[in-house]
Amino acid sequence: MSELFVGGRWVPARSGGRREICCPADGTLVATVDEAGAEDTVAAISAARTAFDSGEWPATSAVDRGALLHRVADRLLQDKAAIARAESLDTGKRYVESQYDVDDVVAVFRYYAGTAGEDAGRVVDSGRRDVVSRVVHEPVGVCGLITPWNYPLLQVAWKVAPALAAGCTFVLKPSELTPSTAIALIGILADVGLPPGVANLVLGAGPQAGAPLAEHPDVDLVSFTGGLMTGRAVMAAAAGTVKRVALELGGKNPNIVFADADMDAALDLGLTAVFLHSGQVCSAGARLVVDVAVHDEFVDELVTRAQKIRLGGPFDPAAETGPLISAAHRDKVQRYVDGGIAEGARLRCGGRRPDDPGLDDGCYYLPTILDDCRSDMSVVQEESFGPVLTVERFTDEDDAVRIANDSRYGLAGAVWTSDAGRAERVAARLRMGTVWINDYHPYVPQAEWGGYKQSGIGRELGRAGLAEYRETKHIWHNIRPAAQHWFGA
Ligand code: NAD
Repeated sequence: MSELFVGGRWVPARSGGRREICCPADGTLVATVDEAGAEDTVAAISAARTAFDSGEWPATSAVDRGALLHRVADRLLQDKAAIARAESLDTGKRYVESQYDVDDVVAVFRYYAGTAGEDAGRVVDSGRRDVVSRVVHEPVGVCGLITPWNYPLLQVAWKVAPALAAGCTFVLKPSELTPSTAIALIGILADVGLPPGVANLVLGAGPQAGAPLAEHPDVDLVSFTGGLMTGRAVMAAAAGTVKRVALELGGKNPNIVFADADMDAALDLGLTAVFLHSGQVCSAGARLVVDVAVHDEFVDELVTRAQKIRLGGPFDPAAETGPLISAAHRDKVQRYVDGGIAEGARLRCGGRRPDDPGLDDGCYYLPTILDDCRSDMSVVQEESFGPVLTVERFTDEDDAVRIANDSRYGLAGAVWTSDAGRAERVAARLRMGTVWINDYHPYVPQAEWGGYKQSGIGRELGRAGLAEYRETKHIWHNIRPAAQHWFGA
């Protein structure tokens, strides 16, 4: 039984509510956790507020904050096998992928351990010899952190590590579907000596456990990762108290392939771009935008390779990708595929559940390719968040850029070409927060991550990811005060 973590103690949900967590690979019960209501979240906000206003953490030196983050990274490595296993059971993703995810989480904690003391502020020219004028950065305060289920611990780490590096306190609300690794992380934070009240955890559904984090006046910043519609609701709720808002939302990301690209690499990574984690990746390359000159051969080969992808559970050594997060999500993916076909797309492979009876208990869906798509189709414009690739053709460079940018989203995209000048021209014209040239998916904690347009507001990772959790203050110090007699009195 897992409870909530409030003010340095594990406490039961006041409502007495509980939720069962089941593995989407086979439906087995993984955990039973407490389900918070709004009153639990308000209590957690109060604990975080007290820890910020009266506690030692915001005034702890950056060196000590960094040292604590290193201790967290050490513990994560020590517990890596158990944490990866818990992540795989919650999400159904392959155990090896969960292990990579833990490594990435460790890298994020190490990065922010090293940058906690960076850019503390600067002296500015006051224009007066009797005045010292400086700009300092301070922790923004109490943060509400709300995260999704696709990379549960990684998305938590992208918020928790910089929030702690900056000296903030927080209330974390992970996805109700995948809480196990957030619970483990909170336990580690307590073990390595984080003062009570700095890190608080509430589990449960968004509208009950999460909404107060956007609405409550004692929360200074809400940082949200999730879907576009929820992001809009969070932003609207946050407007009531004009709190800081950081949003990492969806994407519908183009993968542009020119005829002069290295075809084997483009095919191989084109497959990974969309089918990694069964398409449940915000930056998935779910829109293939391909040169009409190579369309037929490229798509034929992609279909051949997609049909060979082996599905299976987290601990099946032969599996290359896993299930979707839930049966409801699979139904949503199916609706997008059916809608695309009804709008004129040509189904080249997939489009249904697998035949293998061994997979019947899991939420599996076959890798799917829809050819002959147009930018105005729902399946092209909206995020199905499943293993679904749509294919559009372009005739020249301008056409490729126009099609790729024809989206409300602007999270990520890629361009494949052996012409370096063209690669740079296209990269410069794509309205996206990340552009890969002749590659797909890599990221590093040192580089900012986030979206243009309706993919979000603000950035995670990198220096900007730390700046999100800082306020900026100008301090004007008159070292020779004297009356100025502006008024005659
Ligand atoms: P979601 O929007 O359904 O839920 C995200 C979180 O918000 C969950 O914890 C949920 O409980 C909570 N929530 C729901 N309603 C709420 C409310 N009214 N107030 C406060 N919190 C609420 O998203 P999801 O299905 O969990 O995740 C998938 C989405 O996340 C996709 O759209 C994906 O693109 C996006 N995502 C984006 C990034 C990125 O870096 N941009 C990374 C990962 C996932």
